[in-house]
Amino acid sequence: MAIKHDWTKEEILEIYNKPFMELLYQAATIHREHHDPNTVQVSTLLSIKTGGCPEDCGYCPQAARYHTDLEGNDLMSVNQVKAQALRAKASGSSRVCMGAAWRNVKDGEEFDNVLEMVRTINKLDMEVCCTLGMLTENQAERLAEAGLYAYNHNLDSSEEYYKEVISTRGYQDRLDTIGNVRKTNVTVCSGGIIGMGESEADRAGMLVALSTLNPQPESVPINALVPVEGTPLEEQQPVPIWDMIRMVATTRIVMPETQVRLSAGRTQMSREGQAMCFFAGANSIFAGDKLLTTPNPDVNEDMEMFKMLGLNPQKAFEKKSQPESVDAENSQYQSKGEKPKWTRPAHKIERNLEAQQKAKTKA
Ligand code: SF4
Repeated sequence: MAIKHDWTKEEILEIYNKPFMELLYQAATIHREHHDPNTVQVSTLLSIKTGGCPEDCGYCPQAARYHTDLEGNDLMSVNQVKAQALRAKASGSSRVCMGAAWRNVKDGEEFDNVLEMVRTINKLDMEVCCTLGMLTENQAERLAEAGLYAYNHNLDSSEEYYKEVISTRGYQDRLDTIGNVRKTNVTVCSGGIIGMGESEADRAGMLVALSTLNPQPESVPINALVPVEGTPLEEQQPVPIWDMIRMVATTRIVMPETQVRLSAGRTQMSREGQAMCFFAGANSIFAGDKLLTTPNPDVNEDMEMFKMLGLNPQKAFEKKSQPESVDAENSQYQSKGEKPKWTRPAHKIERNLEAQQKAKTKA
């Protein structure tokens, strides 16, 4: 069946609010038509540069302006990353996702090192994903040429609610970055967070933005907010598991071929809750005891859960063949020394300003 690309907010809300059993049945049916329901892809998220970020994302402990207990670190070395990737592979991960707390990629030594990390992990026969902030077309081409498999750039929420959470970067820049990735053969990973105080209409709005992309993202992470002390969203109540299941099921229905990822917030979910998410169409998780900076279930616990549910980890490159890695000296795309002016909307978000003020007082 052809993929539908013209979903409206009303249509998506209608799906989201279906009677629970009907929603689950429809999602599970679509899931089985497009995927093996007993296979789940396992990724390991590696924070290659932690903290000190200039952005003001209201959910994020890595934003330098808020006071959190986070210990930052400079960019890891290629050897450190290789050692971590080997560990991840040995524990069953088929993909390593490297995250750097940057607003956007800047050409130069650090980006060259990231390109080398991409080549190194690809040569270990693992899928490599990066999440490095906004990206130009040339930077996307360079990552693709190094052997990048996926690029993550989340839309976070609907365009309307995004403005209530972040004031230092614009929604259109997110879409443009995704567009730059799309010009290459790198796959797109883009999703969002629920539990930030958004309405159901905002959740549907985010799914409209993602599902109307053509092609739809190959991967959509659904995160449940993990409120971190010191961030503007520290007092948000945990998302009910029912909302998480509804969100996963709705994502599966509107994006049938996409891999739907259970991401942050899994530690707050029971195994039964996670099992229902898998039934509703989730088919990827992040493994490892940390998700960038927030807690995540232990790898062994996950493998026990897989055994109990009869789930098998997906092999690397099952969905798309392994990209080739071109060495730095043979690259066609040299650094352009680009310094693009990404948008800074700079509107005022009261709770972000308050959290920033509190951090100053504590300092
Ligand atoms: S989410 Fe990313 S861009 Fe936003 S503050 Fe955190 S690290 Fe920076």
